[in-house]
Formats: sequence, structure tokens, C-alpha cells
Amino acid sequence: MKGLKGKNALVTGASSGIGQSIAIRLAQEGVNVAINYRSSPEDAADTAEMMDKACGEIQGCGVKDLLIQADVSKEDDVIRMVNTVVEEFGGLDILVNNAGIQIESAAHETKIEDFDKVIAVNLRGAYMCAREAIKHFLERDKNGVVINISSVHEIIPRPYYLSYSISKGGMENLTKTLALEYADKKIRVNGIGPGATITPINKGWTDDPEEKAKVESHIPMGRAGTSEEMAAAVAFLASEEAAYITGQTLFIDGGLTLYPDFSEPWSA
Ligand code: NAD
Repeated sequence: MKGLKGKNALVTGASSGIGQSIAIRLAQEGVNVAINYRSSPEDAADTAEMMDKACGEIQGCGVKDLLIQADVSKEDDVIRMVNTVVEEFGGLDILVNNAGIQIESAAHETKIEDFDKVIAVNLRGAYMCAREAIKHFLERDKNGVVINISSVHEIIPRPYYLSYSISKGGMENLTKTLALEYADKKIRVNGIGPGATITPINKGWTDDPEEKAKVESHIPMGRAGTSEEMAAAVAFLASEEAAYITGQTLFIDGGLTLYPDFSEPWSA
């Protein structure tokens, strides 16, 4: 895609799922990718290997990778991570805020530590990564892109996952506010809102055919999405093809945000 070759990206939580596919897709587009992981260097190394393989299929691709440990909920880690990427790659052009967690519990029974943990990773972490990346973008006065991996739960309430719903609802305003604040500084901020996607975060239903069928029965297109489908949209939003797009969340959800219950006439 236009304008991606030779760029430097940092993808948080890139050792699995959607983040891993984003790293691989960006590598295929000729982007050097820093693979952030929290606890598993082995999984991050797998991502790097898959990037090399995917990139090798394209003649002359030759991209760099960098494995970088950091817990995005810790400010010192985030500052160190962004500084290291800038030093090692000689700059940063694209930040993908992908790291995310969810904890299930009824709202009236949720422990405040669990609530804080989800907000700290999904929302506060995304903000701190964006803050450090934007500082760098402003210093060097070149185009910069932030992409937030949100969710359909940015707009669809999710009972039993209040902290997750709030974190993704907050991400909508994180995307819009940063986009507006830096629109005239060559910085674009967008998000994607995945629907039900086959990744480790969903192993509760992806590995069980009956549970999977139940989930998919709610999706107008009749199937869950793939992490590669999410990564394709991230590559587009990061590229020059999306040069005039900022402050938007693109929902990639097989129609899940289209009020599926209204697909048949239900009232006179
Ligand atoms: P996943 O569990 O495979 O990926 C999440 C990644 O975040 C993991 O690699 C994990 O190690 C990392 N992570 C967690 N806490 C971290 C921390 N403190 N610091 C650094 N990294 C940390 O699941 P996924 O489905 O690939 O999720 C990726 C993103 O997509 C998340 O933000 C999630 O909310 C979002 N999303 C997923 C779906 C889906 O159906 N899979 C739907 C909507 C949104």
C-alpha cells in the first residue's frame, strides 16, 4: 500500500492474535516492526519468524524486526519501549495500540483491582503509548500515525464485561480527541473496531464448535472474523491511501454493529 515501505512501526501486544497478524501484514508491506510483548519472548520470536517468512515471499522486502518487552500499563516501561524503538530503528512512524485484556464478572461483583487492571492496560496504556509516540512525531516534524485497536464494544454495551466496555468506549474519545488535537501537526489517529475474531482471547468459544456456532448465529454475515482481516484494515489506515482520514473507528464485524435484531420487520 502507498507510503508504507521503509516506515517504522511499533505494535503492542504483538506476540499473538490480531497484533501478530498486524506485525506480519505490515512486514509484507515493507514496514520495520517492533514487536512488543509483556511476558512471552518465545511467542514474540514466533511473530518475528512469521514476519520474515511472509516478507520473504515478496521480492526485496527485507524488513527489520525488534522484540521489545514492556507492560503497557506501566509508565516507565512505555517510555523505555518507545525510546528504544526510536533509537534502534532511527525513528517511529506508526504506533498500533493493540494490547488488551478482558476480565469477566457481574458488574456488582467486580473487584476494583480487576476493574483498574483492564482500564490500565486497554485505555491508560493506549494513551501512554500514544503520548510518547506523539512527542516523538512532534519533535521530528514528519507524518505520524496512531491506530487504536478498539472493539465493537466501543458502541455495543457488553454486560459482564463492564471494564472492557468502558475501556473501549473511552478509546473512541481517545481516538477522536487526539485526532483533533494533532490534526494540523501531520498526525492522524484512527481506530478499528473488530467484531468477534478468532484469536486466543476468545478461546472460550473458538475451540468449541457448539459455542462457536452460537456466537456466529448473532453475526449477520454468519461467521467470525480473522485477525488477517483486521490487519488489512490497519495497513490501509496506516498507509498514504488513508491520508485524509482521521478520528474514525472502522468497524470490521460482519455486520454486528448493524442492529441484527432489526433484520426482519418486527413492528407495524
Ligand atoms: P490476544 O489475547 O491474542 O492479544 C492480546 C495481546 O495483548 C496479547 O499478546 C497479550 O500478551 C498482550 N497484552 C496484554 N496485556 C498486556 C500488557 N499489559 N502489556 C503488553 N501487552 C499486553 O487477543 P486479540 O483478540 O488478538 O486482542 C487484540 C486486541 O483486539 C485487544 O485490544 C482486544 O480487545 C481487541 N479485540 C479483539 C476482538 C476479538 O474478538 N478477538 C474483538 C474486538 C477487539
